[in-house]
Amino acid sequence: MKATKISEIEQQLKINATFCVKGWVRTFRAQRFIALNDGSTLDNLQCVVDMDQFDDTFLKQITTGASLAIVGKLVASQGSGQKFEMQVTEIELLGVSDPEKYPIQPKKHSMEFLREKAHLRIRTSTFSAVMRVRSALSFAVHEFFQEKGFYHVHTPIITGSDAEGAGEMFRVSTLNPSNPPKNEDGTIAYKEDFFGKETNLTVSGQLEAETYAMGLGEVYTFGPTFRAENSNTTRHLAEFWMIEPEMAFYDLDDNMSLAEDFISSVLKKVLQRCEKDLAFLDDRFAKEEQAKPQLERSEMGLLEKINFVTQNKFKRVSYTEAIDILKNSKPNKKKKFKYPVDEWGVDLQSEHERFLVEKHFKCPVILYDYPSGIKAFYMRRNEDGKTVRAMDILFPGIGEIVGGSQREERLDVLEKRIEEMHIDPKELWWYLDLRRFGTVPHSGFGLGFERLVLFTTGMSNIRDVIPYPRTPQNAEF
Ligand code: ATP
Ligand code: MN
Repeated sequence: MKATKISEIEQQLKINATFCVKGWVRTFRAQRFIALNDGSTLDNLQCVVDMDQFDDTFLKQITTGASLAIVGKLVASQGSGQKFEMQVTEIELLGVSDPEKYPIQPKKHSMEFLREKAHLRIRTSTFSAVMRVRSALSFAVHEFFQEKGFYHVHTPIITGSDAEGAGEMFRVSTLNPSNPPKNEDGTIAYKEDFFGKETNLTVSGQLEAETYAMGLGEVYTFGPTFRAENSNTTRHLAEFWMIEPEMAFYDLDDNMSLAEDFISSVLKKVLQRCEKDLAFLDDRFAKEEQAKPQLERSEMGLLEKINFVTQNKFKRVSYTEAIDILKNSKPNKKKKFKYPVDEWGVDLQSEHERFLVEKHFKCPVILYDYPSGIKAFYMRRNEDGKTVRAMDILFPGIGEIVGGSQREERLDVLEKRIEEMHIDPKELWWYLDLRRFGTVPHSGFGLGFERLVLFTTGMSNIRDVIPYPRTPQNAEF
């Protein structure tokens, strides 16, 4: 008999119909009630076993973690926990699970423990809910851009350009690491390497996406990016997925509006489609917050935060205004910031971003017009000569979720900036070509997908919103 997903059974609710379900045992209570989960929904299906009908030694093999195919009749439930249940007629034991060794027991496990069991943690309610939300978000991302007429571009993962400038890179090489060929001056002879030059894993698809926007108009990439940054934070991964739209004929305001519209739209979609998972995560979030000291607790619940973002405009504030606010803020005056804000031009630290979002404005904030000294070479210079048309979107609990800008489309200005930043213009010949042949004003941004999943699920560590996190000293699985 073909298996029906538990989610479908829930939706159709055909009482008295016979179904086959296939899944994993979450619990088996009193040799009578199997809670079966198949991943299609948060809910377990309660399968009621008539003990007289099955051999005792057979039933003993049904333990937490075992996999089963069950045939039975759907009936209204007598119990209080669920509206319906299955009266079991057949059980096929697909795979046993040693109850002494199976690590995912029906009790609360710490996130740290589950990270070590990342191959099995998807069988918990929390991780399955997070990963279903992640999948729904991913779909909503494509849907948003496709409906707007953007084209999806697959930018390269191995890159030969080292001017992306977004962070430390991972080298890609097939040279023998213990005996690499050398140049006369003793440096490694990358011309003998696989690609005949030094290559790395990409830190961003932006520059290549820009070339496509200059022919297709509006494009986006959604691919893996790699940063060898040794930052052990709850917001950084060495391998993460990034969404990077790039649009011809957009100025910075158009760019900010698109980013805002994009975030609200995908969140709205997920609110509709993942109601049950989000309700569960909302509850989980509330419990986690309760366990924190009062001062550190979030003022809003998870669903409240998501709804707040979809229903309110983001506050747009220039870097210069933000610095004034921070300079005069209580924590700055009382020397509570680790990095005091004393002068215009400093880079904002996460503590400053969080102050602005969580304490001062109490809503998502778009900061724009940053000092050129702290931003990348490709951002468009403003008339004041000091600032560039950059924008960062800051979210409560997350800090930076989007980084973007209007790109410098003027060849002479861009060349000057590349020189100032000591970047070899030869590395960027193709990028500069865009400014030689039919240059146009254009803009784009990058949104770290895991930061979006982090926000939407209310999880507290980015390692828990990607199946197999890659972080310093950790690439298990
Ligand atoms: P941060 O200051 O948080 O390190 P960034 O300035 O390095 O961010 P960008 O280079 O602008 O970030 O990258 C665009 C987006 O990618 C960021 O807004 C963020 O959402 C995400 N991002 C950046 N680095 C990481 C990382 N190591 N892990 C996960 N997401 C990241
Ligand atoms: Mn960074």
